[in-house]
Amino acid sequence: MKKNTRIFSILLAMLFLFNLTAFAQEVPAYSVEGFETVDADNNRITTGRDATSKTAIASASKYEVSQVGAEILSKGGNAVDAAVAMGFAQAVAEPFTNGPGGGGLAVIHTAEGENIFVDFREIAPKAATLDLYIDAEGKSNGKTMTGGLASGIPGDVAGLLFMLENYGSGDLSRQEIMEPAIRIATEGLYVSTYAANAITDAYDKATTFPAMQKVYWDENGLPLEQGVILKNPDFAKTLALIADKGKDGFYKGEVAQAIVDSLAMYEGVMTLEDLAGYEATAKEPVSGTYRGYTLLSSPPPSSGGTILIEILNILENFDVSALKVNSPEYIHLFVETFKLAYADRAQYMADEAFADVPIDGLTNKEYAKKRSEMLDLAKAQSFTFDDPTLFEHVDTTHFSVADAAGNCVAITKTINYYFGSGVMVDGYGFMMNNEMDDFSTNPESVNKVEPGKKPLSSMSPTVVLDPEGKPFLVLGTPGGARIFASIAQIISRVIDHKIPLHDAISVPKIWNNGPANNFQYETPLKGYEDYAITQETVDALTAMGHDKIGTAASGAVQAIEFLEDGTLYGTADPRQDGKAVGVE
Ligand code: GLU
Repeated sequence: MKKNTRIFSILLAMLFLFNLTAFAQEVPAYSVEGFETVDADNNRITTGRDATSKTAIASASKYEVSQVGAEILSKGGNAVDAAVAMGFAQAVAEPFTNGPGGGGLAVIHTAEGENIFVDFREIAPKAATLDLYIDAEGKSNGKTMTGGLASGIPGDVAGLLFMLENYGSGDLSRQEIMEPAIRIATEGLYVSTYAANAITDAYDKATTFPAMQKVYWDENGLPLEQGVILKNPDFAKTLALIADKGKDGFYKGEVAQAIVDSLAMYEGVMTLEDLAGYEATAKEPVSGTYRGYTLLSSPPPSSGGTILIEILNILENFDVSALKVNSPEYIHLFVETFKLAYADRAQYMADEAFADVPIDGLTNKEYAKKRSEMLDLAKAQSFTFDDPTLFEHVDTTHFSVADAAGNCVAITKTINYYFGSGVMVDGYGFMMNNEMDDFSTNPESVNKVEPGKKPLSSMSPTVVLDPEGKPFLVLGTPGGARIFASIAQIISRVIDHKIPLHDAISVPKIWNNGPANNFQYETPLKGYEDYAITQETVDALTAMGHDKIGTAASGAVQAIEFLEDGTLYGTADPRQDGKAVGVE
């Protein structure tokens, strides 16, 4: 009897093991034409994400979207044409991070040397007053985060069309530019491991906002799984309306009405007038230098570019290249620098139409020198803001495109959190943003909620020019308030340590959450264990006074480098589903 039981257990175990193996073989890793993002052990695949070209290159966090960019470039479109086509396609391919219900920021550097910042950030609706977002005790009531009040007036469609009309080649029609996005929405695309996780994690959101289920759940009432095809005919219809009628196809008429109605079902106050009044705008990027390289990035309504420049200005006062990447001394220097810069961000950064932002002071080298002198290389500190006005004279998903003529476009687009506010525009297939959560509900904050104001962003689409003024890097990443800290690390690794671009992106990064004494670090991707932040390193940092140290993963940098021989090198972050595609 006992023996029989044992045999039975062994048989059962064998059957279980067989099933596991069969399961591992049956479920294919996410794959588009042989492109896989995870291996059989579910490790992110870090190789094969790059491409080179003598002509033009596109890099998005979805391989299919880089292919769209290359398709438009091959048809003779310029980098802006490609970026706009990618913008619409990315909305379909990664609908939980960006889309018509959201907004974004872009930096364009033209072959003629013109630098343009395009602002298509969401705007607080006219009726969105602070009292709607706080409870009787003055605390946040959570309505900046989910439901109809969480959405700012979306800028995505206006921004993409503004870029096409003003900076596109003029050789390709709006219909030709939008055709790939409409094709992907109609024919569908594979749900990747990454997307399947996002859809599963949004289970509660889809239960609260059932219109989401029509797009993201299957006929059995379960979240879509990896490997299935996601089609979105409602979204294809919306895109066709925009292709046909332009901006008015979205901001007026049936789509506008559907946005207002969908938000109103969940307490939304956005009106048809709010939507009809939305305009994208352009101005100069914020600029600075790092060791002779020029930085062009996002001014307000983003904190990103300004604080990126402040961080790099502070770092310039130290011999960063002498420090081993991710050693205790290196991490200490970066974290202390981040704390100094985040303190200034919290105090000064907001929509310039509502606040005096001392940009010249914050990006001033002397101010950074003064800040750098507060830094103790042996001891962790907490910092408060300083007074940059004394130095005044007179800143999701990211994709990058560049062509050999020297036209570069860096675009970061978002609906803020995954699946934004949870409100799906019913019948039109896209999600509304929760960008109102980028405001502060503290009435004392420079970034407090105010009608007509743009919430403070951290998005930092960035172009770096070499010391001769020629394009060198085009880059950006999602990651909320960690964005500019990530970009600073990549730029420093490439310039200070001469680490090849793809490795610079893949090596574990660090962040902190503000001026206070805390920070987080990434665990290494497979192949990057040499750069791991080990327990020994954490202990050394703890001994220097660092506190509240934790692990967190964030960001997906899509970047392009202009190599010395004129070749364009593009690469995509292995943390997501991207791969660069070059034009023959
Ligand atoms: N809403 C954020 C911002 O504008 C971006 C969100 C993200 O990167 O995931 O800064």
